[in-house]
Amino acid sequence: MTEKVVVALGGNAILQSGQEGTFEEQMENVQSTAMQIVRMLEAGYEVVVTHGNGPQVGAILIQNEAGSNLVPPMPMDVCGAESQGMIGYMLCQALRNCMLGKKLKGWEPCCVVTQVEVDPDDPAFANPTKPVGPFYTAEEAEKRMIEKGEVWIEDSGRGWRRVVPSPDPKHIVEIEGIRHLFDERFLVIACGGGGIPVIKKKDGTYQGVEAVIDKDLAGERLAQEVGADIFMILTDVPKVAINFKKPNEKWLDVVTPKELRAYEAEGHFKTGSMEPKVEAVIRFIENGGKRAIVAKLDSALEALKGETGTQIVSVKEKSSIL
Ligand code: ADP
Ligand code: MG
Repeated sequence: MTEKVVVALGGNAILQSGQEGTFEEQMENVQSTAMQIVRMLEAGYEVVVTHGNGPQVGAILIQNEAGSNLVPPMPMDVCGAESQGMIGYMLCQALRNCMLGKKLKGWEPCCVVTQVEVDPDDPAFANPTKPVGPFYTAEEAEKRMIEKGEVWIEDSGRGWRRVVPSPDPKHIVEIEGIRHLFDERFLVIACGGGGIPVIKKKDGTYQGVEAVIDKDLAGERLAQEVGADIFMILTDVPKVAINFKKPNEKWLDVVTPKELRAYEAEGHFKTGSMEPKVEAVIRFIENGGKRAIVAKLDSALEALKGETGTQIVSVKEKSSIL
């Protein structure tokens, strides 16, 4: 049986830590990422791709700020859309190049600029937590807080940084289009950077908001709404660990949502990095998904085959595996 997989790519799929972020660096990383995705297609998996955008949207925000005396700066939702287009372009081209000469039935890459609906009453709007854009001095930050009503915080001694709300993703606005493309065997790249956050007003119209949706949580929505069998989060560690980086560190192989919740409550997963991944995979299984995986990018196919990565399954499924 062919299995449908939604793959969420982490930051390392586009930019390695320590790199500056030139186009050449990013394209080189994207090319090796494309190879991993093509390996999955060659093995017969049906794939939808989503990805992060942290460093890229950060750079776009800086460009906007720096150029604001010359051209009008764009709001954050537009910057998010720009980053989806930029990364989508690189992925589509790299995938197409990588597929040259390979006998794959279909799977023409295409990128969907995606809006994701959030609840205007989401408690996150009252408590912005996600740092974005450039670092500023205290004086500059204060000016922005007064003039624009933005929220800025001192970020671990490195300077002042704007924080925006990180609301929960509710629904993918372009899901019908994504489903049709997928059914016609297009390799869809969607919901980049967690999607462009929008709210639906009483009259049914949508409007962009200044916020950032977590890409792993949006990936879960995408997996659910596209009817995926497997939701796989690819990152720069081989598995989820408890006691991460401590002498008694233990990598998890097969776990249930309930076991992960217990570890989560014990504080094993870092906020903003592993914690949202764990929350996303728990949700996928609790919402009826078959299998979720957290694995390292370069062992994606092996993780799909169950040979590595942390596999998250229901209690029933776990007892049949072990
Ligand atoms: P991505 O861009 O893939 O979302 P993140 O940096 O957000 O990457 O999350 C992956 C990071 O989470 C790993 O590099 C690791 O340092 C960190 N991490 C925190 N807690 C854990 C844990 N319990 N197990 C594994 N990795 C963890
Ligand atoms: Mg992350």
